[in-house]
Amino acid sequence: MLNIVLFGPPGAGKGTQSDLIVEKFKLIHISTGDLLRAEISKQTNLGKQAQDIINKGLLMPDSIMIDMIQNKITEHIGCKGFIFDGFPRTTVQAEALDSLLRQNNMEISTMISLEVDTPIIVERILKRGAISGRSDDKNETIILQRISEYNHKTAPVKEFYKKCNKLTEIQGVGTIQEIFSKIEKVCSTFV
Ligand code: AMP
Repeated sequence: MLNIVLFGPPGAGKGTQSDLIVEKFKLIHISTGDLLRAEISKQTNLGKQAQDIINKGLLMPDSIMIDMIQNKITEHIGCKGFIFDGFPRTTVQAEALDSLLRQNNMEISTMISLEVDTPIIVERILKRGAISGRSDDKNETIILQRISEYNHKTAPVKEFYKKCNKLTEIQGVGTIQEIFSKIEKVCSTFV
């Protein structure tokens, strides 16, 4: 089984690379950001809460995100593997993911961390916002708040996987194909 945590700051290219990984390795893609945006478009209670938090550039509560991941994993038991995109974003989430997978006799193969400097990601997110219409991608204050949340709460998750010898760092700068080639090489060692 190939279970990847695709990691990196907002705008690192996780979504783009996830699509290519899924196509090549036939994994189930779980993007917590996409799941929340689906709730927002359905205007559910969870969606309303998510809208408010996302528009402030903050993180959703761990318990909500962990329940969401648990449901998705249970739905796809028996698949070839998972790619976790945008989760875990805190060490509490990382510990919960570890235990959820262990309960189902699975484990993370590796975390792939896309390394991109802050000025580049701000530029990329603003460009993406102009195309996608994502409100949290259009406003520089929200973008900087998201990067601050990343630095304070999410970056430590890398240490969690490093301690378990499950960290692979990849430069997230270059063409989409160049970056994917490096990811593909790493993933191929696990299948
Ligand atoms: P993304 O599309 O991954 O950039 O996620 C968009 C927003 O959804 C983030 O800025 C957070 O507000 C929220 N979000 C997504 N995933 C998580 C998570 N694992 N934990 C907490 N908040 C999350």
